[in-house]
Amino acid sequence: MTGTTARSVLVTGGNRGIGLAIARRFVTAGDRVTVTYRGEEPPAGENLLAVRCDVTDGEQVDQAFKEAEAAHGEVSVLVANAGFTQDRLLLRMTEDDFTSVVDTNLTGAFRVARRAVRGMLRAGHGRIVLISSTAALHGAPGQTNYAAAKAGLVGFARALTQELGARDITCNVVAPGLTETDMSRALTPEQRRELLRTTPAGRLGRPEEVADAVAFLAGAGYVRGAVIPVDGGAGLGH
Ligand code: NDP
Repeated sequence: MTGTTARSVLVTGGNRGIGLAIARRFVTAGDRVTVTYRGEEPPAGENLLAVRCDVTDGEQVDQAFKEAEAAHGEVSVLVANAGFTQDRLLLRMTEDDFTSVVDTNLTGAFRVARRAVRGMLRAGHGRIVLISSTAALHGAPGQTNYAAAKAGLVGFARALTQELGARDITCNVVAPGLTETDMSRALTPEQRRELLRTTPAGRLGRPEEVADAVAFLAGAGYVRGAVIPVDGGAGLGH
């Protein structure tokens, strides 16, 4: 947290998994945190404002921001975390498998970032963190859709960084490797073993370890357009 002023933070998909760990980190820092959810609300007693929002719907995104702004003021830290996978080998992948994954993971981030930047430009300050994946950097079989969407976030962040120029608004990417959440629990034991074989840390990441990188970027003013891998060394830095 910069100084003693609580920031208005919005985390998409902050009801569970990595998003919830990120939201908790900001609450611990004294910030005012809004999380979006579609199905289940976050656990009670977390000191989070929970707002229903599907990031594939621009109107729901706008409404979520309005509720966050009404309760906590203009959003100054955005974490675009909502994501999902729909793995299939290319020849079996339907167009819907591809476009739905892109719509949530990439276009969803575009929708929330565009909505957030409006207020950040007015305030002259903002931090945007996009949750990508090591799949963006290395690819993975069965994930042409997901890898393309997550790689798209890197180009998006770098283009936006240049658009924002000298303003105090940053856009960076965090690229987790395999992390203990519902998403990774869907992997087969073979997929898990293979991923761990190429991970020097020899274990999966914890959601709190992704939150560490996000918290750093939310405080950093001179780190821009960067991709920070949180992958136990699997990509040896990238
Ligand atoms: P989970 O499957 O545990 O949670 C996914 C979150 O995204 C949920 O909050 C879910 O909401 C939300 N979400 C999915 N689709 C939408 C949508 N259309 N609109 C709004 N919210 C949506 O995943 P993780 O916590 O593991 O993943 C968080 C992020 O980290 C994702 O972007 C993922 O791609 C990325 N990541 C995860 C890795 C891992 O190993 N776990 C590795 C690398 C990257 P709801 O509960 O309502 O479904």
